[in-house]
Amino acid sequence: MRILLVEDDSMIGDAIVDGLKSEGYAVDWVKDGNSATIALDTTEFSLVILDLGLPGRDGLNVLKDLRRRKNHTPVLITTARDTVSDKIEGLDAGADDYLIKPFDLDELSARIRALLRRSAGRADPIIERGRLTINPTTREVIFNGESVILSSKEYALLFALAERNGIVLSRAQLEEKLYNYDSLIGSNAIEVHIHHLRKKLSDDSIKTVRGVGYVLET
Ligand code: CA
Repeated sequence: MRILLVEDDSMIGDAIVDGLKSEGYAVDWVKDGNSATIALDTTEFSLVILDLGLPGRDGLNVLKDLRRRKNHTPVLITTARDTVSDKIEGLDAGADDYLIKPFDLDELSARIRALLRRSAGRADPIIERGRLTINPTTREVIFNGESVILSSKEYALLFALAERNGIVLSRAQLEEKLYNYDSLIGSNAIEVHIHHLRKKLSDDSIKTVRGVGYVLET
């Protein structure tokens, strides 16, 4: 799950990035509206956390522009301005949710999970795929009735495959979901994580589709 954070306040941004990374999200952080638009033009994100008050181009314009280009990435707006009109304008411009600063990181996490669930068309928070059960709230993974301990990258990889159930994801697609711009990705990083996942789950849990990518075997 890759998230774009658009936030010009360094302290708030640092706290959010730390919090999200500890939950296993790949996070890209930009500090102004123009950089946000460029990032959104070039990369597919699972979600955007968008501050409304930004230097230069403000958040509302970034959002309007995004929706005008038919980009439906879920957007959670954050604002220090606790006025009803800001919230209404943001939601009318296509935001999916909002938080008023200062907000609690746990609440941010819960809202992110809800938005990701909604955008994936899931009403049920628990993901069940045959022998596999994933609880995104606790990040608990059960395979064949046994709890499995995964690293954050392994978890993110498995989650991506489980969410796109039955759909083959290429190495490039998985890399885009797991790593931000700053990451130095080894050419076989995804293969290594897949290898570890198979060891922890089972050899036949993830199928390699030659020349295409990987798919969860349920
Ligand atoms: Ca701001």
